[in-house]
Amino acid sequence: MIEFHQVSKQYPGGNQALANVSFTIGDGELVYLSGPSGAGKSTLLKMIAGVEKPSSGRVTVNGQDVGQLNSSGLPYLRRKMGLIFQDQRLLLDRDVLANVMLPLLVTGTARAEADQRARAALDRVGLLNKADAAPQSLSGGEQQRVAVARAIVNRPRIILADEPTANLDKASAARVMSALQAFQSAGITCIIATHDESVLATAPRIISIVGGRLAGLMSGKEITA
Ligand code: ADP
Ligand code: ADP
Repeated sequence: MIEFHQVSKQYPGGNQALANVSFTIGDGELVYLSGPSGAGKSTLLKMIAGVEKPSSGRVTVNGQDVGQLNSSGLPYLRRKMGLIFQDQRLLLDRDVLANVMLPLLVTGTARAEADQRARAALDRVGLLNKADAAPQSLSGGEQQRVAVARAIVNRPRIILADEPTANLDKASAARVMSALQAFQSAGITCIIATHDESVLATAPRIISIVGGRLAGLMSGKEITA
């Protein structure tokens, strides 16, 4: 379970990115984060991963206070998460398979097993046939599906995706979204920031933020304080 308890975030520059945000997300939920550019969506996702810490309030993941985790606790938390963040591009100096294997090799998985699991993850996003391709030879949508494969190869319990369909055409966006949605049916908690109206129209739950504040009660669980 993920819990935000009266979370505010003030960046050193002076921008108040989030103001008094509270909500809970249960295990295995699929939740979309919506809101205009600058609303605070990325900041919210980064706080779940411990990349940014709240200025006040508390973020807990499975009962652990993320803001209190130290440099030995954070990597352990992130290992249970698959991150699809905009600043994590594919590495262009190696092929698709090597990109997907990387999170496994970093955490000490043997090469043969990493190879097999990376291929299985690519298969899940429909790109096993591109294992040996150079990332720059793929379309934007295919590259984003490789990023999905890389995010799930460690069998995370939580997937955080920040605008994974930005800059994609409709058909590619739909394939990326359905690749992500498929993991929710495997019991993985998915939190996806998106502007995609067609996705939001059928979303089971939306957390809507505007100007750093919760703006929408799209299901019963948000608490606007
Ligand atoms: P969104 O993802 O919804 O576009 P962000 O979380 O990126 O929103 O940004 C929320 C607000 O915080 C914006 O006003 C943005 O300019 C500001 N902000 C984001 N990151 C930083 C940072 N590292 N330093 C200062 N201000 C930031
Ligand atoms: P394998 O068990 O050989 O890895 P799967 O088809 O079961 O093959 O899974 C392919 C990839 O999809 C896995 O490497 C893993 O990254 C991801 N995956 C599958 N099931 C889960 C799950 N329940 N939780 C997290 N990730 C999963």
